[in-house]
Amino acid sequence: MTILAIVVPCYNEEDILPETIEQLRALRQQLIDEQLISSESKIVFVDDGSRDRTWSIIYKACLRHEEVKGIKLAGNAGHQNALLAGMFAVKDVAHCIVTMDADLQDDIYVVREFVCKFHEGYDIVYGVRRKRDVDSYMKRWTAETFYRMMNRIGVKLIYNHADYRLMSRRAVEALQQFREVNMFLRGVVPLLGFPSAAVYYDRKERKAGVTKYPLMKMMRFAFDGLTSFSMMPIRFVSLLGFCSFFVSVLFAIYVLFLKMTGHTQTGWTSLILSIWLVGGLQLMAIGLVGEYIGKVYKEAKQRPRYIVDIDLLHWPMMASCDG
Ligand code: UDP
Ligand code: MG
Repeated sequence: MTILAIVVPCYNEEDILPETIEQLRALRQQLIDEQLISSESKIVFVDDGSRDRTWSIIYKACLRHEEVKGIKLAGNAGHQNALLAGMFAVKDVAHCIVTMDADLQDDIYVVREFVCKFHEGYDIVYGVRRKRDVDSYMKRWTAETFYRMMNRIGVKLIYNHADYRLMSRRAVEALQQFREVNMFLRGVVPLLGFPSAAVYYDRKERKAGVTKYPLMKMMRFAFDGLTSFSMMPIRFVSLLGFCSFFVSVLFAIYVLFLKMTGHTQTGWTSLILSIWLVGGLQLMAIGLVGEYIGKVYKEAKQRPRYIVDIDLLHWPMMASCDG
């Protein structure tokens, strides 16, 4: 029977975690009762270097419940890397892996449909939010702009899908072959090309704790996604530079013509304007080139994406030494 692993990245989630653990255990039990998954199925919490009591909550839950497992990363590796750490750790013991946030915003009972789709033969099942009324206007607007922009430059993102999805073991194994350090899962997973399906659900309010994606971090995430997948921005800037060069050549001819015909201008305004315009364009171009060079630099170093501190998953003795 299908062994399911639910992977939950957690960063400073002490407020909600006890409830998340209970709800996911109940969900797992329900799916076992319905004979959809095997009793070997696990719930794996990845502590992404939290500074609060998150790890101690996970650790205690691991001691108390055999189906709960924990992995503690040595530092804050970021949401995407925490997801990868969890998925790569469980892929050998699970047939399929569901990833979800710790904050219970995404309806956890959708997992049942995920598993049904998996049984129908899909390797990847995306959870797609039907409506996002609970998100702030700003969050919705930025997200929408981001999806639209990515689609325009040719990156096939699933609209309104975050990192709530099921992946089969072979899909995760294929994912492991993508060696980029800066992993943007939402962009990479559709690239795998395995049979995929979508399941729709309503997004709820965050029950406790605060979002770990404030506006600046979200913009950073979006910009990372954009520059990881496309050379379009850099080409756009080159084009802009080329156009402004062309315009300045025309302008120069015009000014020379004026000078020759004796209509010399005082020219202060146009001078200042063009200095600022070209200077700005140059700075923008340099910044963007720098962004890509930074990416190459990061990839060239081939640093590990995350470092595991404690791995209770591969430490089966833990379950039996109840304290
Ligand atoms: N998270 C993480 N590492 C981080 C930031 C976030 O593991 O550096 C986790 C967080 O605990 C949560 C999930 O990633 O389980 C998504 O974060 P959050 O709910 O704050 O994002 P939002 O849903 O508001 O976009
Ligand atoms: Mg959330």
